[in-house]
Amino acid sequence: MGSLTFSTSISELNRIGVQRAKVLSENNIQTVQDLLYTFPRRHLDRTSVSQIKSLRRGDHSSIIGTVRTTGEKSIRRGKIFQVILSDGTGSMTLTWFNGVRYIKNLFKVGDRLAVYGKIDYYNGFTITHPDFDRLSEHDDPINTGAILPLYPLTQAYKSAGLEQRIFRKIMLDIFDGLDDVPELFTPEICKDNGLLSRKDALHKIHFPDDEDSLNKAIYRLKFEEHFFLQLLMAFRKATLKVSKASPFLQIGPYIKLIEDSLPFELTNAQKRVIAEIREDMKNPQAMNRLLQGDVGSGKTIVAILSMSLAVGNKAQTVLMAPTEILAHQHYESVKSILDHVNIPCALLIGQMKKSDRQKILQGLENGSIPVVIGTHALIQDDVLFQQLGLVIVDEQHRFGVKQRGKLIDKGLNPHFLAMTATPIPRTLSITYHGDMDLSIIDELPKNRIPIVTKVIEPSRLKSVYSFMKDEVNKGRQCMVIYPLVEESEKSDLTAAVEAHKQLDKYVFPECQVGLIHGRLKTEEKDTIMDRFSNNEINILVSTTVIEVGVDIPNATVMLVEHAERFGLTQLHQLRGRVGRGAEKSYCILVKRKVTDTSQDRLSIMERTNDGFVIADEDLKLRGPGEFFGIRQSGFLQFRIANLLTDGPIIRSARKVAFEIAKNDPNLTDKNHQFIRKTFMQEYAERMDFVQIS
Ligand code: ADP
Ligand code: MG
Repeated sequence: MGSLTFSTSISELNRIGVQRAKVLSENNIQTVQDLLYTFPRRHLDRTSVSQIKSLRRGDHSSIIGTVRTTGEKSIRRGKIFQVILSDGTGSMTLTWFNGVRYIKNLFKVGDRLAVYGKIDYYNGFTITHPDFDRLSEHDDPINTGAILPLYPLTQAYKSAGLEQRIFRKIMLDIFDGLDDVPELFTPEICKDNGLLSRKDALHKIHFPDDEDSLNKAIYRLKFEEHFFLQLLMAFRKATLKVSKASPFLQIGPYIKLIEDSLPFELTNAQKRVIAEIREDMKNPQAMNRLLQGDVGSGKTIVAILSMSLAVGNKAQTVLMAPTEILAHQHYESVKSILDHVNIPCALLIGQMKKSDRQKILQGLENGSIPVVIGTHALIQDDVLFQQLGLVIVDEQHRFGVKQRGKLIDKGLNPHFLAMTATPIPRTLSITYHGDMDLSIIDELPKNRIPIVTKVIEPSRLKSVYSFMKDEVNKGRQCMVIYPLVEESEKSDLTAAVEAHKQLDKYVFPECQVGLIHGRLKTEEKDTIMDRFSNNEINILVSTTVIEVGVDIPNATVMLVEHAERFGLTQLHQLRGRVGRGAEKSYCILVKRKVTDTSQDRLSIMERTNDGFVIADEDLKLRGPGEFFGIRQSGFLQFRIANLLTDGPIIRSARKVAFEIAKNDPNLTDKNHQFIRKTFMQEYAERMDFVQIS
């Protein structure tokens, strides 16, 4: 074979004909480089393979053995398929519950298999739905001491004859013929960060000498991946910073007046973040800052003070919220404070009278309205500002980068402040929001009494209802929340409507029970929320439309139905809707479907009120994609990087990336040519990465 390079097409390789090339390219593997970056999902060696006689229940283990018999069995709910595997020290079963018809054709007596999975024990050791690979008789990591890579090969690969052994041979061929590998980092960077060369790392991840060399290879390749993401962040940050913004140099008359008019004293954390924001907006480059603070930590007043600072500097400012209810509520709180200091403000939402909307648009364009609060309605093309200086977005993860960008583009590089109540773990935050500066409110107002949380079975609802009645008799209010998931929106809505009927008629006949959900018209929602605010409704049944932001200080009980269907972070947000006043508050989580994990998960809510702890758990349980509710964004799909466990690697890679971006912003240095090439090929398009549902 001639000499190979990174860009050699796979179709020029031995063992790869038309059919295999087709399967590979369907999996985005077109070049030698793509193949080399298809990492083994696991390695088998003497130390990582267990003997059947010494298996332990509950462990995740790899076993190599020979198929002795196979067979189907009928059980109550259909058919199962089982394989008996033995390795000379003992036998075990492998069990499949689904796809029996298809699975059973994959095994023959005498096949040698490498299997992997969680060890269970029912009449002997067993793995249900194991991960498995067929090995050839020459694949013998146990007697030869070899370390075998196992690749993530789907059935499509296998149907094209791309079995583990063949895949491995293809990789070996590549390393035989590979000319050279374009190194990304200078020798200094490699040395300072303890990195193998790129070529060695690629070689050792496929064919390691031992565990140590495998770990070094993994480290280097994780570093690479984090490096490019951090480079992306560095460039985004730099792009935002080069453009000139108007600095807010005046403190203006409003801040002090507002602070003096508040019925409470700001917490130290609030004071600190306000100072950070003020300092940042003094710069002639636009602020790009994320304000993070747990539910109830008091972000709204920080937003209001920032807005009044903008107005004090003759600029206009806008606050965008993800839902109309929330926009409305923000409008009410902002207005009640700005009225004191005679700053006009307006609310702009989708469902509005045309003439009202027209008036607001005019006021924004001629500058007579300095402050506007609203929903997505704000980003429509005909919304124009005279001098937009500060953009604030609440619950910013609910918006995509494009929507945010559209709002920002309505000014000439306005300062930007995003707010979120989702306490994002640090390593995730510097990857996901790595282009933003961070301000954190890490302190709740002092008067807060911790919320008591209880997970209950439906059988205990009766006593909960009578407790709710007592609270209502004391003048307090309650909320009952039903989950609303997109797929079955209709049936869930029915559940809430039905529950409302029941509660209203039979359970709380003497109370006012209201119902609110996303399908109602804005005016209807407003009326209901107004009535709830005024305590004309005692108990409000709701789908999760009130999830974010709504503030009813008199509400003391939150009952969440089907709690197991919510993410922990979401439950924490919901719980934050009560306990905002001076009374002791309660959050009751009703679990309808019990599984081991739902019990564990929900009990975390009983144990802590700390949003950071909850977010960490949530992230561990659901992974970053689910955590953010991101669908197929591609951004959080990694080859080898792991946001949860790579903290130190992320920090080193970030340092290197930011240094390079600073010294060579266009990557024109000869040393950076391959960084530039890879960045343009694989990462540049992710500059605009997030699209969130
Ligand atoms: P969030 O951060 O969840 O948006 P809010 O800004 O809605 O929280 O504040 C929650 C409640 O706490 C509001 O009723 C607000 O008036 C009140 N609040 C804010 N800051 C303080 C403070 N320093 N002391 C007492 N109450 C405060
Ligand atoms: Mg809020």
